[in-house]
Amino acid sequence: IDCWALRGGEVHNVEGEPDSLNCPHVSVTHHKQPHVCVPIQVFNKPVGLIELAWGRSTDGWAPEMPLVNTVAEKIGLAFGNLRLREELSRQALIDPLTGLHNRRWLETCLKERVARHARGGLGFAVLIIDIDHFKAINDRYGHDAGDAALQEIARVLAASVRDSEASARLGGEEFTILVDTQDFSEAMAVAERVRLSVQALRIRANDQDLPTVTVSIGVALYPHHGSGVTEVLGRADEALYASKHNGRNQVRLPAPVSLAVN
Ligand code: GH3
Ligand code: MG
Ligand code: MG
Repeated sequence: IDCWALRGGEVHNVEGEPDSLNCPHVSVTHHKQPHVCVPIQVFNKPVGLIELAWGRSTDGWAPEMPLVNTVAEKIGLAFGNLRLREELSRQALIDPLTGLHNRRWLETCLKERVARHARGGLGFAVLIIDIDHFKAINDRYGHDAGDAALQEIARVLAASVRDSEASARLGGEEFTILVDTQDFSEAMAVAERVRLSVQALRIRANDQDLPTVTVSIGVALYPHHGSGVTEVLGRADEALYASKHNGRNQVRLPAPVSLAVN
């Protein structure tokens, strides 16, 4: 918008000034119609404008100006607060290192999916993905190299999900993917693709190539493996543990619950 006040960041008051100083966006119906533009600023950047134009010539509105300025200031503060609040809630749900969602966000997302299932929606699969021998990477190549590996792997995970699905960093070197499927073999296939993609990564850090990084993955399905978020995540964790125990760099489902028969 073409406005003297927005351009200059200052109140632009036209009272008996030459026409050349009229703001182009104010529709001036007659010669020397007085108008005033007050910029609304957030953190010193204009975000809006209060425009007042008198339909007739007046004796000027100097007495009203303090009020107009106060209103503009208050609106600016309100916008500023909203922006800060948005930024804070975004930060509370995003992992700063990888840009993936964090555990808090994921839990909310899974609860929402469980609620949706109760209303007739479809089930889903969760993958818990843990980097193998990650501590050794940190110890041998440094924390920066560990961070680089986390970022590269996060990129693989983000690229492995569709719009309706989700990837998150649970914490440390542990990640989760939510897959839109009720099908065991499809969930396993997604997990296997992730495993192979991570294995194929060539990660560089501090001017050297890191050795191949692998992940172990546990898969569980809602509602097959549990009636709530905690249960299903617990079963996926159990499957992850089995993957680790059986030699790492592999994908597993939870062992079927055995029935006691007497
Ligand atoms: P395992 O194959 O059994 O999973 O072994 P591991 O070494 O991957 O597992 P462990 O839990 O022993 O070590 C995890 C390491 O991850 C320890 C911790 O220092 C490191 N870590 C956690 N968060 C970060 C991070 O944000 N950056 C880096 N560089 N390292 C991290
Ligand atoms: Mg690990
Ligand atoms: Mg771990």
